[in-house]
Amino acid sequence: MPHAVPPGTTPLLDLDEPWALGSAGPRLRAVRRAAEGLRHRFAAGPRAVAVRTLPVVVSPYPTKYAFFGAALSPAPYVLITHRCLVVQFLQAGELRTLLFNPTDVAGARATPYFARLAARIPERIQRAIAREPEPLVDQLAHLGVRPGDVDYVAWDHLHVQDLRPILGTADGRVSARFPNATLLASRAEWSDWDDLHPLQRAWYVRDGKLGVQTARVSLTTGDLMLGDGVMLLRTPGHTSGNQTLFLNTDSGVWGVSENGTCADSWAPMDSRIPGLRALARRQDVDVVLNANTPERGADQYTSMILERTVVDRVKRAPAFVQMLPSSEVTPSALSPALQPTILHRAISHGQLATPQRRPRAAE
Ligand SMILES: [Zn+2]
Repeated sequence: MPHAVPPGTTPLLDLDEPWALGSAGPRLRAVRRAAEGLRHRFAAGPRAVAVRTLPVVVSPYPTKYAFFGAALSPAPYVLITHRCLVVQFLQAGELRTLLFNPTDVAGARATPYFARLAARIPERIQRAIAREPEPLVDQLAHLGVRPGDVDYVAWDHLHVQDLRPILGTADGRVSARFPNATLLASRAEWSDWDDLHPLQRAWYVRDGKLGVQTARVSLTTGDLMLGDGVMLLRTPGHTSGNQTLFLNTDSGVWGVSENGTCADSWAPMDSRIPGLRALARRQDVDVVLNANTPERGADQYTSMILERTVVDRVKRAPAFVQMLPSSEVTPSALSPALQPTILHRAISHGQLATPQRRPRAAE
């Protein structure tokens, strides 16, 4: 089947054959090999224009999921900070703006898992631990980015998302927060969301895309170069349509996804979190999955190896790689023994520009 290619983007075919291999072991080796070639091309190519990282929400998350059940701690929850990236890049010479993970915080509360969790944790404790930074649109305004300037929105995956306030609804009842943005989402996950398997239900907002405007939804089937220094690669496993954003910056190549929850997830042998190194030794594994969705673990593992292969190492701590978890475990009194060995917190690169307001071509 030919790839669906959103306007302005370029398909990348390197990983098509490796991902299509039938057996998980050979698939892992082939994906790693193809990722090495792609990494060389991407790192030697042009850089993105600018990247900024903005906090969206801080929330509790079960320790057993965050570390694949490996962390030795009685703390049932860790805190995770979910973040959005603003990325500007050139696409055929034109400046484009992408928001990666512009999650609607109010909508996310309807996620069945979090709704059940909220019912179990007393309100005053929830208020004490959950922090909500300034609304994303206000944070963007401080940076000179207006809602109408955003050309693309995408998420690493669609868990906890309510797309209605982002894209607006076709009946006009909900208006679009980013009126000129095209959503880049995987066709596979979009279809899953229509008819969820019981193992998927806990993490999707059931009506999160009901009645949304679809004119600006672009469903993807393969890997994409969005423009200079920015690519969006399939990294299936955590969900069927999981994807990872890769950025070529002044500090090297970075990736962003939720396949892991902190730097340790991609380098467990060098982790100081009790239990992670032992798990890696015992099971002879190179990565530790963010494991709230068990259905496609082998693919998630392969996706994390792909990520580790494409990005650069951290200069101040070369045992770790430049994978920014889109929800990163954050030091807290909830789980004092579960501090990530290093924290990434943010990717910052270049200077954001205010795009010229341009008339949209009639479509
Ligand atoms: Zn998820």
